[in-house]
Amino acid sequence: MGPPGAGKGTQAEIVAERFGIPAISTGDIFRANVAENTELGIEAKRYMDAGEYVPDAVTNLMVRNRIDEEDAAKGFLLDGYPRTLDQVEELDGMIRHTGHRLDAVVVLTVDPGELGARLSARAQKEGRADDTEEVIRRRQEVYTEQTEPLIDVYRKRGLLREVDGLGEVDEVTERIMSILTQVEES
Ligand code: ADP
Repeated sequence: MGPPGAGKGTQAEIVAERFGIPAISTGDIFRANVAENTELGIEAKRYMDAGEYVPDAVTNLMVRNRIDEEDAAKGFLLDGYPRTLDQVEELDGMIRHTGHRLDAVVVLTVDPGELGARLSARAQKEGRADDTEEVIRRRQEVYTEQTEPLIDVYRKRGLLREVDGLGEVDEVTERIMSILTQVEES
């Protein structure tokens, strides 16, 4: 978890690779569907371009199908999911069904000023449709309203691992790895 621009996607890929499991990024799956103009992509794009969350029913079904795939049997790292309280409950149900257990929830914390700078830099480099100033502001609001409350939910469950997201990519990776290698695997 972490606000837009915290570096979730970058770290998720590296960390998942180190553990030999897939990184499942809901944002990436949505973007791939948008690029291929699928029905899901057309539906998702309306929300993404406005900085809003895609409706839970759509997102939940997509994740449910993805974690049922064979490469996720041994485990997986979720990037950008769950993001709402409804998704937290859905995920609990899904993994009860697949027999997985949630081992840890990593939150990347980054100072808001730095986040703004990173997102503007990404907008220039990647040209993501949702990296305009107005949409960035809305995504930050939606994160605060809908996703930040999840931090307490997972803290109460004893799963939360807070990691400082400031610094070089490698430094942040090492911080995450040193925490996750101490977590008992299910
Ligand atoms: P970031 O974390 O940088 O905002 P992501 O790539 O994770 O970007 O997500 C981009 C967009 O995809 C979100 O703004 C939202 O519209 C949609 N999205 C991704 N994950 C979810 C989710 N779990 N629930 C609802 N919408 C999502």
